[in-house]
Amino acid sequence: MDKAKEKIRAKARELGFALFGVTPADPLQGAQFYARWVALGYAGAMDYLKRNIDKRADVRALVPAARSVLCLGMDYWQPTPEAVDDRPRGRFAAYARGDDYHEVIKGRLFALWDFMREEIDSDLQGRVYVDTAPVLERELAQRAGLGWWGKNTCLINKRRGSHFFLAEIVSTLVLPPDEPATDHCGTCTRCMDACPTDAFPEPYVLDAQRCISYLTIELKGSIPRALRKGMGDWVYGCDICQDVCPWNRRVAQSSEPAYRSRPGVERPDLIEWMGLDGEAFNNMFRRSPAKRPKRRGVLRNVAVALGNSGDARAVPPLIDALQDEEALVRGHAAWGLGQLGGEAAHAALRARLAAEEDVEVRAEIERALSADHGGRATDDGEVS
Ligand code: SF4
Ligand code: SF4
Repeated sequence: MDKAKEKIRAKARELGFALFGVTPADPLQGAQFYARWVALGYAGAMDYLKRNIDKRADVRALVPAARSVLCLGMDYWQPTPEAVDDRPRGRFAAYARGDDYHEVIKGRLFALWDFMREEIDSDLQGRVYVDTAPVLERELAQRAGLGWWGKNTCLINKRRGSHFFLAEIVSTLVLPPDEPATDHCGTCTRCMDACPTDAFPEPYVLDAQRCISYLTIELKGSIPRALRKGMGDWVYGCDICQDVCPWNRRVAQSSEPAYRSRPGVERPDLIEWMGLDGEAFNNMFRRSPAKRPKRRGVLRNVAVALGNSGDARAVPPLIDALQDEEALVRGHAAWGLGQLGGEAAHAALRARLAAEEDVEVRAEIERALSADHGGRATDDGEVS
């Protein structure tokens, strides 16, 4: 047993990192796989993932004298309660219901780094990363024994499932490495079968452009019409391919208070959220990862979820949203009204069309109106 490693492991546990492993700072094997993934367009509009592809395969591009990488995992999982009433409600990914994990974990990483310099070696050089390093962090974590790259492309740990954040400390410290984790997906394909938008072109490969997480968080503009129905009631991220994974069956609730759900976020009240103004949104999501898509992105998603709800109570808030200052919100509200149909929806769409100047919104309204009227718009806007 290496004393320095055990001291660091104990400190990491004290700081809330349930998973801990070490791998040498050697080049990674996954660069070719990653380059192919980018070349196939599966990164969508996430341009930051397309840069520095060569550098991603070697942590020494980040810390030239690096000798090891400490890989860490922090649980975040929170149960999703059943809705308490029959109002139209959305779903919100478990990882994002509390405070922004970047902020939470960064503080802990710096505390661990300070500990390493104080207790192990004051001359250490290195850097800490949480979801921010341009490196293939899941391969690093797999090599450090934290888990295997599952067919759903999440890192899966036999004991703790996949609901954890990854973080790394790349440094000049030499530590004995851990055994790499091995694949335990076997013949299972549950995640691929359950994905509502068919986002896995093959096992272990995610086409982010089709993934609800990408569509609701990363995508800045309009959600492709063909994928809107598949989004169901998700308004921020999606947990389906993790929830169905047998390795998450016994996952424990995170004890980290910062990841506890903010009030109303576990099962968002879609009607209420459609009316969030800028101030209410900022109050609700201060220091939350949900700031990323901004109010207009979240309300775009809410409009889609209301359109998918099949609930007549969704019509009035969507009619109000036709007046939203954001064209993105107005356009998706029009789509939602097209899905729900009915006289009030169509009268409001016609009235808005007379005043609307944005070309994309006009096109959305015209498609919604063409989805006449005991039927609903199909994915490409044709009458079903
Ligand atoms: Fe599919 Fe949801 Fe998993 Fe994305 S997060 S791959 S949409 S199941
Ligand atoms: Fe692997 Fe099955 Fe989990 Fe998918 S659901 S990641 S195939 S074990």
